[in-house]
Amino acid sequence: MDKTKCPRCGSTESVWRGFRYNEKSKKHVRMCKSCGRKFTPDPVFWRMRFSPEEIREAVGLYRRGFSSSEVQINLARKGIRVSRWTVILWSRKFIDLK
Ligand SMILES: [Zn+2]
Repeated sequence: MDKTKCPRCGSTESVWRGFRYNEKSKKHVRMCKSCGRKFTPDPVFWRMRFSPEEIREAVGLYRRGFSSSEVQINLARKGIRVSRWTVILWSRKFIDLK
């Protein structure tokens, strides 16, 4: 799971260290075992309700020229429920996704 990689030293050895709060949400905080840095794991795929494969598929379809609602229908057939807006957000967010 490199989603929990330390941003300073790159170590994947880290432990949960509770939560960090802000006005809107609470975030999990991890502490690196190697350098002691506290960080919040990259939330890109982590903690999402969808698997990277599902996101990849949605973004792929969208990039191939399907409209967001067509992508939505396509995914719904496979039991994946996303909103049209989510599809658009993903395609913007995961710009490097192959
Ligand atoms: Zn570290």
